[in-house]
Amino acid sequence: MKKIYDVAIVGGGVIGSSVAHFLAERGYKVAIIEKQKIASEASKAAAGLLGVQAEWDEYDPLFELGRQSRAMFPKLASVLRDKTGIDIGYEEKGIYRIAQSEEESVRLLHIMKWQQQTGEESHFISGKELREKEPYLSSSIIGAVYHPKDGHVIAPELTKAFAHSAAISGTDIYEGTEVFDIQIKGNHVTGLLTTEGTILCEKVVIAGGSWSTKLLEYFHSEWGTYPVKGEVVAVRSRKPLLQAPIFQERFYIAPKRGGRYVIGATMKPHTYNKAVRPESITSILERAYRILPALKEAEWESAWAGLRPQSNHSMPYIGMHEEITGLYACTGHYRNGILLSPVSGQYMADLIDGKQDNRLLDSLLSQSI
Ligand SMILES: Cc1cc2nc3c(=O)[nH]c(=O)nc-3n(C[C@H](O)[C@H](O)[C@H](O)COP(=O)(O)OP(=O)(O)OC[C@H]3O[C@@H](n4cnc5c(N)ncnc54)[C@H](O)[C@@H]3O)c2cc1C
Repeated sequence: MKKIYDVAIVGGGVIGSSVAHFLAERGYKVAIIEKQKIASEASKAAAGLLGVQAEWDEYDPLFELGRQSRAMFPKLASVLRDKTGIDIGYEEKGIYRIAQSEEESVRLLHIMKWQQQTGEESHFISGKELREKEPYLSSSIIGAVYHPKDGHVIAPELTKAFAHSAAISGTDIYEGTEVFDIQIKGNHVTGLLTTEGTILCEKVVIAGGSWSTKLLEYFHSEWGTYPVKGEVVAVRSRKPLLQAPIFQERFYIAPKRGGRYVIGATMKPHTYNKAVRPESITSILERAYRILPALKEAEWESAWAGLRPQSNHSMPYIGMHEEITGLYACTGHYRNGILLSPVSGQYMADLIDGKQDNRLLDSLLSQSI
């Protein structure tokens, strides 16, 4: 007899893999259906910053989710390492958000104040104090706001660790298998139609990143995701140039293990073409040299591009269909899917368990622009 899964997840990026991890840990029989391999798209390309305070300039429900998710990482890193042997490279040395002009400095102070009002730690330090901690930074940096609780991970390792953990707990992973539709009978999900045949299941979670639009239309004709391409550069240095990531207006230099520095990223909406343009590499490196001139002495490693899944509502779809039983969505996490993956996975497991309602989806949609 054909296997019937409790839950089949469309997409083996960090979101689908996290949902699988949390469900499988609770004893659900899960399948991940991935058209390529686990961690092939955005979740492979990401810099892995857990930049709650570095990313949000004003309060919204995602800032709140980001805080909850960031707080999950210390325990998650050890749970995943113990279970799978994979080190997700979690580091909590904070993130410096820098200013190179008076105007930027004023803006950062304003952001710092509202974040402090939410109870978040952050403080302003002068350029001189910053260079005492990070001596290779340019003297053109006049100050920075330090967010001690922000951190970073190695995104593809996190994704693989989630998937591997789910597999250890009994999840079946179908790689090289594309879902082309959902099988619905009456008003109930009964399976997934895939290139390898029908996979029977009681529930489906759409976690297809930038390729989710066709399936999201079951929710609403206006729901959808689209790609925002980001190009990234990596270099290596034997000399340790930075302790903690540096962030400035959607631009970052992140030190990774093995003397690696990940620098990025461009923002180009509505293209699925992942070719890296020389012009982008030049502009990324020029900007990086203005922040950390010693990077000129580093060795070239590589450049790549990935597709951030942005939703048509500028907020992720995290919730369930109100009429089609068994249909769920968890996608559209745009620039912050690595950060938001633990809380999204846990929330979806709670929703499927009946321990949560659809309030989060309503609140996210009400904030959409
Ligand atoms: C350059 C760059 C830097 C980033 N930096 C950060 C960062 O520092 N911090 C952070 O938090 N976030 C960052 N992000 C964002 C983050 O990478 C994404 O939000 C996150 O990876 C989204 O995960 P996902 O699982 O939804 O999508 P993806 O990783 O794209 O996974 C979706 C998967 O679904 C599969 N799929 C789609 N449709 C189907 C189908 N029909 N059948 C089968 N499989 C299907 C795809 O093949 C893909 O593997 C960055 C992104 C980019 C591109």
